[in-house]
Amino acid sequence: MSARIIDGNVLSATLRGQLAERTAALKARGITPSLAVILVGDDPASAVYVRNKVAACEKTGMRSLHFSYDSAIDPATVFVRIAELNGDPSVHGILVQLPLPKQFDADAILEAIAVEKDVDGFHAQNIGALAQGKPRFIPCTPYGVMKMLASINAPLQGAEAVIVGRSNIVGKPMALLLLAQGCTVTICHSQTRDLALHTRRADILVAAAGRPKMISGDMIKPGAIVVDVGINRLPDGKLCGDVDFASAKEVASAITPVPGGVGPMTITMLLTNTLEAAERMQPIQSIPTTSR
Ligand code: NAD
Repeated sequence: MSARIIDGNVLSATLRGQLAERTAALKARGITPSLAVILVGDDPASAVYVRNKVAACEKTGMRSLHFSYDSAIDPATVFVRIAELNGDPSVHGILVQLPLPKQFDADAILEAIAVEKDVDGFHAQNIGALAQGKPRFIPCTPYGVMKMLASINAPLQGAEAVIVGRSNIVGKPMALLLLAQGCTVTICHSQTRDLALHTRRADILVAAAGRPKMISGDMIKPGAIVVDVGINRLPDGKLCGDVDFASAKEVASAITPVPGGVGPMTITMLLTNTLEAAERMQPIQSIPTTSR
């Protein structure tokens, strides 16, 4: 068997087309969805991610504001910038690219962002809302994974879902989203005793550990749906996921590739969250008065 490939570029192109139409409709009413991106330091991967986010925004017709700071910057400067952006009604989404330099308390920075502009969905209140099943913003990567599963009508109710990785930005919100759809969820992590025991039970397997090709075909249940969130750079410079694609695609019924899988979906969901923030912040339409 060779698995069906869930192509993140193709799905993204469709979704971004719809976002561009909604953006144009909002702009016709005088509102330009706007995303502010803050980058601190000179991590080359972060710089690429920020460039891609800014470019995707502009291609969809949204406005992007980009603020870059030296890695030695006083965190107070960034807090002041966030406060200004929180108070600026023309800005709908604010994102601080992670990781931050050591002198920063990343949680404090994320929580300084106004909850209604937290388009990454990392604010503690937004994670809490997600945990209660009333999400305001869904973190972009797990949100993209859910869209990919929906695109193939993956049967989620009652399915065994296994997630490898328990980070706040991928593994944990992923578990909450699959749980909300009726999956029985197992979260594996670096202390899990027998990883393959769990992965072999999975109808839906999400790999998000950042370990190149750690999930091989023999760790996958025949017919499983496999989503590879991992992005790893090999010594030869090529990118690969956490799943050994060649062996996994012979066992799975559907699989996401790396690159061209979850990666483009993450940016698409960031655009979605920004647009939704702008739509929610529209001034309340005045109600026409009727003469009595
Ligand atoms: P992280 O380092 O914060 O978390 C990794 C998790 O994997 C941890 O919870 C750890 O316990 C677990 N883990 C590590 N080794 C393990 C092992 N041998 N067995 C089982 N679990 C193990 O990473 P993250 O930010 O969650 O990202 C995970 C991966 O996803 C990375 O490769 C990252 O680059 C990628 N990523 C991709 C996107 C995207 O858009 N595609 C977005 C975010 C992260």
